[in-house]
Amino acid sequence: MKNGILFQAFEWYLPDDGGYYDDLCLKLDELKEMGVTALWLPPVYKATGVNDVGYGSYDLYDLGEFDQKGSVRTKYGTKEQLKHLISEIHKREMSVYADVVLNHKAGADRAEKFQAVMVDENDRNREVGDVHEIAGWTGFDFPGRGDTYSKFKWHHEHFSGVDFDNLTGTKAIFRIIGDNKGWNLGVSTEKGNFDYLMFADLDLAHPDVKEELKIWALWFIDELGLDGFRMDALKHMDQAFLEEFFNFIRQEKGEDFYVLGEYWIKSEEENSDFLDKINYRSQLFDVGLHFNLFEASKNSAGFDLRQVFDGSLLKSHPALSVTFVDNHDSQTGQALESWVEPWFKESAYALILLRQEGYPCIFYGDYYGTNGEPAPDFIREKITCLSKLRKNFAFGAQDDYFQSPTCIGWLRQGDDEHPNKMAAVISTGDADTIGMSVGQGEAGKVYADYTGNSENKITIDEEGWGAFEVGPGSISVWMEDGLEL
Ligand code: CA
Repeated sequence: MKNGILFQAFEWYLPDDGGYYDDLCLKLDELKEMGVTALWLPPVYKATGVNDVGYGSYDLYDLGEFDQKGSVRTKYGTKEQLKHLISEIHKREMSVYADVVLNHKAGADRAEKFQAVMVDENDRNREVGDVHEIAGWTGFDFPGRGDTYSKFKWHHEHFSGVDFDNLTGTKAIFRIIGDNKGWNLGVSTEKGNFDYLMFADLDLAHPDVKEELKIWALWFIDELGLDGFRMDALKHMDQAFLEEFFNFIRQEKGEDFYVLGEYWIKSEEENSDFLDKINYRSQLFDVGLHFNLFEASKNSAGFDLRQVFDGSLLKSHPALSVTFVDNHDSQTGQALESWVEPWFKESAYALILLRQEGYPCIFYGDYYGTNGEPAPDFIREKITCLSKLRKNFAFGAQDDYFQSPTCIGWLRQGDDEHPNKMAAVISTGDADTIGMSVGQGEAGKVYADYTGNSENKITIDEEGWGAFEVGPGSISVWMEDGLEL
């Protein structure tokens, strides 16, 4: 979709009262109005308990329908409420992407005995001690659901590793021993082999596992009417399986079925290598750009803004880059904490929302707040304004005016349907000005700053140039005065 906006519709610390789906329903009109075209929901299946954000996934077929793990509902509500939410999203012609956790399973119903070997936490290829019997939490029977929707039960042969031996109470990473068994090979080489992340790690080379996940994916898509997947923890999953899985879904559901992956690594080289391995079958979150935005917000004038896109997917694979400022992992208090400072939020959002490249994702925490703390009205208004600018005006060719380490600007030329010109200017230092050419057709027109950060007006000269101003550590977006946002 042209100028689409993805909205990450959750943050880490939402209340676990089961009211989330109904609450999100009430927010849909304002999200639609500001230009959101798709929503990414949190993991919607039964996890270890109602206080689980969803990444400790237990039963992929239990969408808040069966009495398991202490409740029928998940943290977010019941399956019925979820289906209602999705129908309300579709009614507004927005898309729904589900969060898909296929790296691991958590909260097994029982421990099973099997042969395993302990490995070095920092070099998973290095064995510590001998192969011996342990008891690991790998038995999933789903007593509350039984055989409804699927008869498949999970056992130790379906997993590659666990992090606890129930016989001795030892907490360490154990690789499960068996025929054709080992860590999945097509994974990140961090820590030697980064197949294992947490809980009981799925063996994605096991034919029964691959088959079951494909069957489940089709059921899941049809049951909820999903438009796409957001794939969790791709760094830890077998690339051969991922390519096969993505191809299968597209073959069954059509090429339009959307897939977005989380491959959490700063290095553009590794992201590119991963994209190549999966034959470019998924878009990826632009982690490199996120860290540049984070660095810019930390170092302010010490960061060279002209390099803000260096090492990003936006630069190397613009068609596959999903740009974001922050998310549920980078937010304060989370493991990957790298929170973009508030003073730079508006500029960071302009850098993802008003550029030609990338599919921008707005974070719930930035818009609605985190941990019960509402987002400041100021930031909400700014994000709303930038989103509407994207929706209505950020079209056509893009001319960059990356003037100095602390001041950059760019121009959007507009297109036939959206003829207005737009000039964005960001400063991380003092107040500054960039001369940009909007064309002789604009000569004599008066431009205003639609962010509201500057009250000044700028008149385009006879040659079609404007001297576009920006305040210190601020942003301005200039367009002809008097337009309806
Ligand atoms: Ca894995």
